[in-house]
Amino acid sequence: MDEQRRAKTEALFRDVNERIAETAERFDATGTEFICECSDPNCTHGVEASNSEYEKVREDPTTFLVLPGHEQDDIERVVSRRRRLWVREKVQAAVRQTVVRLDPRSGPAAPTEL
Ligand SMILES: [Zn+2]
Repeated sequence: MDEQRRAKTEALFRDVNERIAETAERFDATGTEFICECSDPNCTHGVEASNSEYEKVREDPTTFLVLPGHEQDDIERVVSRRRRLWVREKVQAAVRQTVVRLDPRSGPAAPTEL
């Protein structure tokens, strides 16, 4: 499967979750339903997480929030397993580069050499 496409799909889900998090913060919610950030474009599953759990995932541009079982071993590894959510880190170099480049929190896009 096309790794770049998968990385972009996940970055897109991350953008959606960023907006969900902003809204949740505004309403001071404690638990929020985010969307699964796996690379399946048809996945619409919700992942329940607190704002602080989400913030922890977002601190690192290479980590993503997914439902247990939605990870893909060829491009990532699971770094944290909880009851409701798993955190995965991208380990494949090209995929890492893409998700870092597309990170909405890393400011203006730096020129990337491909
Ligand atoms: Zn999923």
